[in-house]
Amino acid sequence: MTDLAFAALPNLPIFEPGWVWLAGAGPGDPGLLTLHAVNALRQADVIVYDALVSEDCLTLARPGSQREFAGKRGGKPSPSQPDITRRVIELAGQGLRVLRLKGGDPFVFGRGGEEALALAGAGIPFRIIPGVTAGIGGLAYAGIPVTHRTINSSVTFVTGHDANGEVPSLDWTALSRGAPVLVLYMAIKHLDSIAARLMAAGRPADHPVAVISHATMPQQRILETTLGDCVAAVAAAGLEPPALIVVGEAVRLRAQLGWAAWPAA
Ligand code: SAH
Repeated sequence: MTDLAFAALPNLPIFEPGWVWLAGAGPGDPGLLTLHAVNALRQADVIVYDALVSEDCLTLARPGSQREFAGKRGGKPSPSQPDITRRVIELAGQGLRVLRLKGGDPFVFGRGGEEALALAGAGIPFRIIPGVTAGIGGLAYAGIPVTHRTINSSVTFVTGHDANGEVPSLDWTALSRGAPVLVLYMAIKHLDSIAARLMAAGRPADHPVAVISHATMPQQRILETTLGDCVAAVAAAGLEPPALIVVGEAVRLRAQLGWAAWPAA
């Protein structure tokens, strides 16, 4: 893609100095970046990015732009949320075009709302650029429709841990009985207690579960299992985060809809 062709696309905004664009980079495959996100990468002076943003996406950045990593690396603790927010505000205050880039969609379990509130509070002009959330893009790559007319009239996105790192205090009985398809983010750590709660409330042990690790990336791995077996199966397969867990009958459609995003090695 030449920038000339890119510039010819209608209505892509100019990144003004002193602005922050809070953008989602999608789940990993750079082909899932939006045109707005690429437009941001092509103009930003500095990109403050999280661990879930794939290196392939960052290669689209304007040559000469600065990158600041704001995630967890090498076992070191990640910078705190207030530190990141302060840094983003400081960079914008220097008159830079600041791209705050997050994995997936910034407003889906991504603290994008907190960061945007801080920008609003500091009077920094900002734009929000949505991204393909892992719970949608990752399921597509796994051949699992997020909704399917004969299976589920709703889909529920759930985080597997709350702000304190615990299982969120949700009504798990209601979720077990009333949410036909659950897409669990950040749930590997507490999978045992989540699966136990869903089964205690009536979801059968042979209920289908898929675990999608590194969705949309070349190292994507998908495990099909059941609610009763999923904890042992994840451990046996050595599946690594980031991973999504899909609970529901929709997982069975994979038998016909699973497709290969990459040529066999
Ligand atoms: N804002 C992100 C979610 C951040 S929370 C989004 O919209 O996708 C982090 C969790 O997202 C991970 O623990 C994992 O459950 C999920 N996730 C993000 N990217 C993923 C990927 N490529 N493959 C599997 N899960 C992913």
